[in-house]
Amino acid sequence: MKTKTENPLPKTLPGTDCAQMVKCGKPTCKCARGELHGPYYYHFVRQDRVLVKRYIRATAVEQTRSACADWRFREKHRREASKISVRRLIKLLNLLKESEAQLAGIRKRNSNG
Ligand SMILES: [Zn+2]
Repeated sequence: MKTKTENPLPKTLPGTDCAQMVKCGKPTCKCARGELHGPYYYHFVRQDRVLVKRYIRATAVEQTRSACADWRFREKHRREASKISVRRLIKLLNLLKESEAQLAGIRKRNSNG
């Protein structure tokens, strides 16, 4: 029995999948006249500002698409959670400023009286 262990795809994956029609490069092929091959699927991801393109095997297209969707979903919620934290911090900072102003007022009254 032939068994092949493949690297399992991660459950979440940054980037996106994209179908593309391609030319094989043979000058006499139908694709040279515009009848392209495909679609072939590629995974695109930005790594250190460089767009990296990788071929996705036909059997891994759905899994890759799903992993990318999961990544986007998680990122969206992470950003929203982060926004909420920033809002809470701003509220706390404003409370602190108000308290400091009140304290300064009390100190001023005490030193004058
Ligand atoms: Zn061709």
